[in-house]
Amino acid sequence: MKFSTKKIILRIFLSVIIVFTILTVINPFNIIPILIDLGLIIAFFILRLCWLKCPYCSRILDLGNQNHCKCCGKEISDEK
Ligand SMILES: [Zn+2]
Repeated sequence: MKFSTKKIILRIFLSVIIVFTILTVINPFNIIPILIDLGLIIAFFILRLCWLKCPYCSRILDLGNQNHCKCCGKEISDEK
């Protein structure tokens, strides 16, 4: 999968997390949105750890538009 595709999926994940967090704040007595929200947050962090790692220095990258590692400055390939 392309690096940019992974970023788009993670951004969608973040938006869904925000929606469920708002649902949780609106109705804190409903346990189902809270559980879904927690599950999504855990999945988001696991995917981020697996997908957004610099192959050169293993640092976790942010979700910005740049394809360069902030730590070592190397370009992240879009092929993998
Ligand atoms: Zn790096």
